Amino acid sequence: LTVLGLESSCDDTAAAVVRQTEGGQAEILSSIVHGQTELHSAFGGVVPEIAARAHAEKLDICVVQALDAAGLTLRDMDAVAVTAGPGLIGGVMSGVMCAKGLCAATGLPLVGVNHLAGHALTPRLTDGIAFPYLMLLVSGGHCQYLIARGPEDFIRLGGTIDDAPGEAFDKTARLLGLPQPGGPSVESEARSGDPKRFRFPRPLLDRPGCDLSFSGLKTALMRMRDQIASEKGGLTRQDRADLCAGFQRAIVDTLAEKTRRAVAVYLTEAPAEPVIAVAGGVAANTAIRTALETVCTELGAKFTAPPLSLCTDNAAMIAFAGMERYRNGARDGLDLTARPRWPLDQTSPAMLGSGK
Ligand code: ATP
Ligand code: FE
Repeated sequence: LTVLGLESSCDDTAAAVVRQTEGGQAEILSSIVHGQTELHSAFGGVVPEIAARAHAEKLDICVVQALDAAGLTLRDMDAVAVTAGPGLIGGVMSGVMCAKGLCAATGLPLVGVNHLAGHALTPRLTDGIAFPYLMLLVSGGHCQYLIARGPEDFIRLGGTIDDAPGEAFDKTARLLGLPQPGGPSVESEARSGDPKRFRFPRPLLDRPGCDLSFSGLKTALMRMRDQIASEKGGLTRQDRADLCAGFQRAIVDTLAEKTRRAVAVYLTEAPAEPVIAVAGGVAANTAIRTALETVCTELGAKFTAPPLSLCTDNAAMIAFAGMERYRNGARDGLDLTARPRWPLDQTSPAMLGSGK
């Protein structure tokens, strides 16, 4: 089974070819990603209209490059999978229209994929892990705990009630004048900082459940920054590093504790071999990975995280998620709609009346 996947929901235009062998393990034959960071850098964030135009211009090139790199043609494909949401609607529409065009021209089946399901299923692509597993999805736009029971069967245990951690990292970087994307800049500053100098809050730890909140951290950081600036007339390199370290430690502590709680719920599903997986761009953070690994060791579960290139947006995860849906019998019609919002516990587009 060979599937072409397309991704265009945020600021990466991507196409990939994934193949599944008789034995069942999937293999990435090619994965092309054209980032748009430089197009948006002057604006301090992704500009939806610019993103949509760039996707429309780049998708066909990505498809050709992905097929070339795999040494295959459209005739070798069994299906076309495309991100049908959630995301910036102009970009999602560009991808969906491109995929529909390919399917209309070739007669290949079309499979719409939930972008978050793409992230959440990635550990099956990289490590072949079995359902049910616990997934912490931490990215620029999302933060949630999910029990993955099947390719279209997710239970949400909790998530952020305001900002996503990636967003908090990005805002923190902006407040301190560090380059975007903020995650890597803040992590690198934090390495030379003292996490104990500034006391950041640990939001929602006093409340039961797996919900998280990160917007207060940014407010706390802004207050601390302004106070230092008013006392000393500006921030030194060390002040900045200490602020980054304190901020990052607050996120790490919060995620570690909430993960303990999520694992307790997951273990009631009595998995044969408990596995906890993390995915999304923020999973690139070494401090977060290490903390989660420690929690897993504590609780006797296996920890897995996809390689960094598959944690951030890519089309291999979409091709793979589409393949999993396809093997479940899912097909979408040319009436598949692009959806700006699409909760992961309603994974099938067909369930939402967008055609089958
Ligand atoms: P979504 O997938 O939810 O739509 P997105 O596509 O913007 O959001 P990703 O591409 O998965 O998110 O991840 C990008 C985010 O990951 C950015 O906010 C970035 O700052 C963050 N990030 C990247 N590397 C790190 C790191 N080392 N530490 C913390 N955050 C990081
Ligand atoms: Fe993403």
